[in-house]
Amino acid sequence: MKIANSKYSDIIKAEARALGFDFCGISKAEFLAQEAPRLEQWLKNKHHGEMKYMENYFDKRLDPRLLVDDAKSVISLLYNYYPEKHQTANVPKISKYAYGQDYHEVIKAKLHEFLYSLKEKIGNINGRVFVDSAPVMDKAWAAKSGLGWVAKNSNLINKQLGSFFFIAELIIDLELEYDGPIKDYCGTCTRCIDACPTSAIVEPYIVDGSKCISYLTIELKDEIPTEFKDKMNGWAFGCDVCQDVCPWNSFSKPHHEPLFNNSPALNFSESDWQDLTEETFNLIFKHSAVKRTKYKGLKRNLKFIKP
Ligand code: SF4
Ligand code: SF4
Repeated sequence: MKIANSKYSDIIKAEARALGFDFCGISKAEFLAQEAPRLEQWLKNKHHGEMKYMENYFDKRLDPRLLVDDAKSVISLLYNYYPEKHQTANVPKISKYAYGQDYHEVIKAKLHEFLYSLKEKIGNINGRVFVDSAPVMDKAWAAKSGLGWVAKNSNLINKQLGSFFFIAELIIDLELEYDGPIKDYCGTCTRCIDACPTSAIVEPYIVDGSKCISYLTIELKDEIPTEFKDKMNGWAFGCDVCQDVCPWNSFSKPHHEPLFNNSPALNFSESDWQDLTEETFNLIFKHSAVKRTKYKGLKRNLKFIKP
C-alpha cells in the first residue's frame, strides 16, 4: 500500500508541475489541532473586523473531513503571481495579486483540469477544489505540507518563491504519501512589523485584520475610519507593504501566466483613476479581483487616499 501511495503522490506532483503550479505538497486530512485555539483567540479579539464570514463554519475550517466525504488528503498548491511589470510611481496603488485576470477564475479552471486528469490517471477519486473561496485554512495546510512557513506578517513564505503566490487546494478521498513542515526562517527580522503603515501586525504572527489596509480597502463596507486618513500610503485596493519589504521576496521571479498580464489599470495615470466612471469600471474590471470592492468601494478608497 505504501508503494502505491507514494506512486500516486508522484503522479500528483508531476501533474501539478505540468499544469504550471510552482509547488505542490500533501498532508493527511485531519483536524488542525494547533490552529484551533489560535483561530478562536483571533476571532475573540475581533481581529476579523466586519468579516462575519470568518465566524462561520468554524468546525469545517479546522477539519477538511467535514468538507469532503471520506477525505484522506489535502493537496496544497502554489501559483506564482509576481509581476514583471509594475504600476508607475505616484498613482493609486493596487495589490499585485489583482494585476491580471481574477485568480479565482484562472486557478479554479486549472484545479478542475487537475482533478479531471487525476481521475483519468488514477481512477475514481472523489474530491473538491478550493481557491480562497471556502472555509479552508490554506496557509496552515500549505505549511503542514512543507511549502513554506507562516511568517510574522501572517503570509506563507516559500524559500524559493517568497510570498507573492496564490494558494489552492484539492481535498480528495485518496490516501497518499505525506510531506512534513519546514522550520520558520523569519529569525530576528521585524521588517514587516516596522513597515506596516497602520501597525496592523500587532505582534509577530498576529495581524489585526480590522486595521489592515487590505481589509479597509476591500472588505469594509462602511466609511474608512478617519484614524487611518494619513496611513494608507496611496493604496486603493489591497496593500503589499509587508510583502514588499520582506527579504525573502528579493528572490521573487516573474510569473509565467499570460492571464495575469492583461490589466489596463497598470497604465492608468492619477487622473484615469480619479475620473473612472462606473461604466468603465464594469468593463475593465469585469474579470479582475478589483471588482470585489464594487465601483462604490473603489471610489470611496480613491477619495480617502487623495492628499
Ligand atoms: S497588508 Fe499592509 S496594512 Fe496589512 S498587515 Fe501588511 S503592511 Fe500592514
Ligand atoms: S519581513 Fe522579516 S519578519 Fe516579516 S515575514 Fe519577512 S522575514 Fe519574516
